[in-house]
Amino acid sequence: MDIDVVALFPDAVRAFCEVGVLGRAQERGIVRLRYWDVRAFADDARQTVDDRPYGGGPGMVLMAEPLARALTAAKEGRGAVRTIYLSPSGRRLDEAGVRELMGAGSLVLVAGRYEGIDERVLEAGDEEWSIGDYVLSGGEVAAGVVIDALVRQLPGALGHEDSAREDSFAHGLLDHPHYTRPEEWRGREVPPVLLSGDHGRIRRWRLKAALGRTWLRRPDLLAGRSLTSEEQGLLEEFQQEYRGQGHE
Ligand code: SAM
Repeated sequence: MDIDVVALFPDAVRAFCEVGVLGRAQERGIVRLRYWDVRAFADDARQTVDDRPYGGGPGMVLMAEPLARALTAAKEGRGAVRTIYLSPSGRRLDEAGVRELMGAGSLVLVAGRYEGIDERVLEAGDEEWSIGDYVLSGGEVAAGVVIDALVRQLPGALGHEDSAREDSFAHGLLDHPHYTRPEEWRGREVPPVLLSGDHGRIRRWRLKAALGRTWLRRPDLLAGRSLTSEEQGLLEEFQQEYRGQGHE
């Protein structure tokens, strides 16, 4: 997959993408990232990329021309490209969105700054995506979030192929809790079933914990998902135990 990042601070995204899973995915050729500095496409000696907003008001706006030139450079030689402007006004990213974007062979991610970009740069078919209902100072972090969420799901990106399949949201549920050595830490023990070696019991314990956690923390996810009879039974067990502990 090819991803181009167009930004005022592309090195911030690059630094983030060079480590861990993303760094390895690039080494393995699973994703090819390129970075475009909008300032390099300014046409004056001071490399001006922002100006005051028409109509007045606070802040500055990222000018159309340098950004358009950077976008043209990023798209050159690419076939079908999905161009995405990271923006609080965009479609909110979720697991379904991540999977959808994985299907794109080539993405161009545009990170804004200031009050945002000159609206005229966006062409018909360009998309706007948000990473959440809050405002960041710049789209670089948002671009990093999109790249990370997407690349870790690409085949071969994770060392252990099952990891992404079992993560939160993959089955419409939150993840179950995890534990590692030592068996007892500061007087707190690992749930004994996880030490039993009985894979059937461990699978059911994890599924029940995931269902219970989702029911407690994100009931909206359960409302949008049908349960198998096994899942229904495990959730009822969890609910009984939970209420048996004096919770409402
Ligand atoms: N005036 C804009 C508004 O109220 O929607 C906010 C601009 S913000 C300070 C500067 C840039 O950060 C935006 O152009 C966008 O690229 C990025 N950004 C901020 N919040 C974001 C979010 N929740 N999701 C994606 N990008 C975001």
